[in-house]
Amino acid sequence: MSGVVDVSARIPAKLTFWQRLYLPEIFRGMAVTFRHLVRNIVSPGRMPTIQYPEQKRNYSARFRGKHILKEREDGTLKCVACYMCAQACPAECITIVAGEHPKIAYEKYPVVFDIDMMRCVFCGFCVDACPKDAIWMTRNYEMAFFTREEAVFSIDRLRETKAEIDAHGYGYRPYYPGDGTTPPTDASRLPVVPGSGERDALRQAGVALPNRHVGAGPLNATSQAAKFTA
Ligand code: SF4
Ligand code: SF4
Repeated sequence: MSGVVDVSARIPAKLTFWQRLYLPEIFRGMAVTFRHLVRNIVSPGRMPTIQYPEQKRNYSARFRGKHILKEREDGTLKCVACYMCAQACPAECITIVAGEHPKIAYEKYPVVFDIDMMRCVFCGFCVDACPKDAIWMTRNYEMAFFTREEAVFSIDRLRETKAEIDAHGYGYRPYYPGDGTTPPTDASRLPVVPGSGERDALRQAGVALPNRHVGAGPLNATSQAAKFTA
């Protein structure tokens, strides 16, 4: 019958007398192991493995490693807490809590921005979904944890640092210099609309704005650890 594999044809022949003795086969196996041992010692450059962590592979500029949150030129996070990355995430591992930014030009910012690295599948959809060029990936794949809580990275571990980029380099991101792609608009380079500015200044000037909590609220945890103890 077509489509049916005849497995009987793959049944190995009966063991020979020498195979049934086992010892000759054991010595043959050890000879293979010994041959590889000698070859690796004599010419280590031919080994398929590398001496990690002393040696590291140079991955592609599009490698999808740990995420970073990008900053504007004024040092604030580019993220405007629009939740599009969280919506696009197939692993549902991004948690965002939006807050009211003191600058009207920016409107919102992430009070909490967590990524659960144990759930993340490093697909890069969050990078693709972001309209603000606010989340990139690096080539940093060195993440090891003892507890689940440690695997949840909050803003303090996601914010871009020079040390991390120097050590690992950028990975997957929306554009690559020289390949025809261009960066999305950075809001911090746009002029601030006259008449906007700080919310408190507007309130003092008598402009009616929605009420908000002043100071750090219960969700304004400075770190993941602080959030758990809050
Ligand atoms: S890389 Fe994929 S799985 Fe990980 S946070 Fe982004 S969208 Fe979610
Ligand atoms: S899509 Fe971009 S701007 Fe929107 S919440 Fe995610 S990182 Fe922030």
